[in-house]
Amino acid sequence: MEHQKCVIVGSGPAGYTAAIYAARAGLKPILFTGNEPGGQLMITTEVENFPGYPKGIRGPELMDDLQAQAARFETEIRYELISKVDFSGHPHVLTTEGGTTLTADAVIVSTGASAKWLGIAGEQRLMNMGVSACAVCDGFFYRGKAVAVVGGGDSAAEEALYLSKLCPTVHLLVRREDMRASKIMKNRVLNTSNIQVHWNTIPEEVLGDTGVTGVRVRDAKTGATREIDLEGFFVAIGHKPNTDIFKGWLDMDETGYLLPKLGSTHTNIEGVFVSGDAADKTYRQAITAAGTGCMAALDAERWLTEKGLI
Ligand code: NAP
Repeated sequence: MEHQKCVIVGSGPAGYTAAIYAARAGLKPILFTGNEPGGQLMITTEVENFPGYPKGIRGPELMDDLQAQAARFETEIRYELISKVDFSGHPHVLTTEGGTTLTADAVIVSTGASAKWLGIAGEQRLMNMGVSACAVCDGFFYRGKAVAVVGGGDSAAEEALYLSKLCPTVHLLVRREDMRASKIMKNRVLNTSNIQVHWNTIPEEVLGDTGVTGVRVRDAKTGATREIDLEGFFVAIGHKPNTDIFKGWLDMDETGYLLPKLGSTHTNIEGVFVSGDAADKTYRQAITAAGTGCMAALDAERWLTEKGLI
């Protein structure tokens, strides 16, 4: 069976940064991209907050650059999904969707998280043309325009508050008559004059041809429908970490976010490290993912050295 020193699972900023560090440390990492090479940044238009790009950069271009940098130091990139792991012994066993099995001394998990979507008409068609799941990434493009945020949790509250500093009107569409968000966030939202909360409001269709022009919503109580004019439609109904294959092996919280040991990227399984959004429900930025990718590679290298495996 094929054996490797270091396998990286996932190809977002965390995975590629881990690869750059691991490769430069001579670990000859193998990186499995998964089914969405490049991760969430592939569906982001312009990235203006990743340090080092003063003029901004398109999300897919940033990922191409990170991949090229990882490849330059001899990371082997495989366009396959790891669909099963067995961490019961050492070395660790990983199986691809195609059924190939390999073993690894160190595994770096950087499988990320995926934004949840509503699944309503117009949402996919107008993706990146007014529909977004990230106000910090895309809010700037809607300065001076009316926008909506969908959701009633802390994420939606945070997105609405962020957008309220850029946009004259932020329509917050909440499907019940209360918000799930923490009291402090809810109060901030309710006390912000340009956030208009629409209770019991369910989005049914995002409207527009070449860009978002509005949303058709339904009143959950009366069933009445109406249209709201706006140009940006932000969905903030939660993220799902891509950690299903690690259930039963790695410690995770009730929503599936991995729980590394405090202040490090070590997990409860020796030789398995975690980086990026798979273990981060708070910051979720490309730069923070890249930072923890670097940490995971350094932790892996030190662990391999301590164990005499390199
Ligand atoms: P969340 O707490 O699960 O909230 C999701 C929200 O979206 C809920 O209001 C939910 O409504 C609504 N929703 C779900 N599906 C919907 C649909 N199909 N149509 C319309 N609305 C829908 O998710 P989150 O806000 O991303 O937060 C996740 C975790 O991260 C939480 O523990 C949160 O406290 C934490 N977080 C913290 C901060 C912070 O402290 N600054 C910031 C962000 C997130 P219902 O309530 O009706 O289910």
